[in-house]
Amino acid sequence: MRRIERNWDPWETAWLVQNAHRTSLEDVCTYLGRSEASVKSKAKRLRAAGKDVGPLRKCGTTPALCPECGELRRRFAGDTCRACAEREKARRTMAEIARLGGDVAGRGSARPPAKPGESDAEAEDREEVYWRRVADAARQRLRTLRKKM
Ligand SMILES: [Zn+2]
Repeated sequence: MRRIERNWDPWETAWLVQNAHRTSLEDVCTYLGRSEASVKSKAKRLRAAGKDVGPLRKCGTTPALCPECGELRRRFAGDTCRACAEREKARRTMAEIARLGGDVAGRGSARPPAKPGESDAEAEDREEVYWRRVADAARQRLRTLRKKM
């Protein structure tokens, strides 16, 4: 059953902005008496509006919001989830390839589609595996390019 979420009071919004980065998503939900979906979508909306809402996480096992993609993640590398970290690595490697005059058009690898009814954990695994493969492929191309120089 889906509960209708009540509107956010200004103090709740202010509290979320001030405390998101120093507590876990679960604690935010408990404190505000809201569902994870409600807190997650509110944080996303606030970030879209330019508010600095920190990542919601406590430890590796507590799913938290990745500030980069806005998804609930279990594994982080620095401030962003590992999928976002791998994507950033791939982006930087491609920029380096372009700087060296290499071809960045390349054959992109197909993104695996979401399984019907997949869990957050499965979606996270899929994203992470995909971006790691993209980052590895980019690194390999950069290595080949440097050898030719
Ligand atoms: Zn992310």
